[in-house]
Amino acid sequence: MTPILHQLSQNITLIDLQFRGRVETIAAYLIFDGEQAALIETGPASTVDTLLDGVQAAGVPLEALRQIFVTHIHLDHAGGAGVLARQLPWTRVHVHPVGAPHLADPSKLLASAAPLYGDQMESLWGTIVAVPAEQLVVINDGDEIAIPGSTLRVFETSGHARHHHAYFDAKSSLLFTGDIGGVRMPGVRYVRPPTTPPELDIEAWRASIARLRALDATGLCPTHFGLFRGNLAWHWDDLEWRLVAWGELVRVQLEQGADENAILQELKAQAAAEFAKLGVDPSRYDVAVSFESLVAGYARYWRQRMRNE
Ligand SMILES: [Zn+2]
Repeated sequence: MTPILHQLSQNITLIDLQFRGRVETIAAYLIFDGEQAALIETGPASTVDTLLDGVQAAGVPLEALRQIFVTHIHLDHAGGAGVLARQLPWTRVHVHPVGAPHLADPSKLLASAAPLYGDQMESLWGTIVAVPAEQLVVINDGDEIAIPGSTLRVFETSGHARHHHAYFDAKSSLLFTGDIGGVRMPGVRYVRPPTTPPELDIEAWRASIARLRALDATGLCPTHFGLFRGNLAWHWDDLEWRLVAWGELVRVQLEQGADENAILQELKAQAAAEFAKLGVDPSRYDVAVSFESLVAGYARYWRQRMRNE
């Protein structure tokens, strides 16, 4: 595939991974100071060739790529880490302590994803392999890591998953939000919370939003998709409002005894009403996170809470 690159700053390039042949679905971010390079997100294993073509098209020799950071270990963010690490044995893969064991041995991750995707697993995500232990680097909240031309600050940001980091680049003041900053399509004023199971935690997510809001970033870079500048307070507000409002919708439905299919229809209707006001095609959001996944995440969260009451 012809590489699609977007220059975000002097040192930072977005590589569009063209997942399933679609643009603006999954991004990887390349940071290059002219000598060495770092990558934030690998994307899935199925798009590693596109990723590496993009790295080289950005003028970065593969030997210069030294550091890889993943925001969390979901397959659309880090599924390619093992393949990449094996192809580029000089790289180091930086990951949250909770995620590290699953990059070292992806068998549990694969076992939990397999029933969701069935025989689509391979064609969607590619062949997932382990990151060699000697290439794994566990990083923690508060770490400041030297990267080419800058420093990356690590922020523990649970809520979407317990193995999630956001990364703040000190030089550009851009914040790489993974999934904790929501899904937002270029040119659209709409942020969808990817409330994927099994670790959704609404309260923790709101605390992470509060933390990241306070950073005074100049721009947000969610993995789905691209760089957003301008009114970032609006972005956080929209994300938080929808995270809570959709959560309430699901909670009320569950309390009334609705099954997941009925809830799915309710949530789709709610989203359609929201999109009608915007006049844009909502299907662009569905590729990054499906309604089935949204409902399953919320339902699991509330059922757990109801059981504990
Ligand atoms: Zn995720």
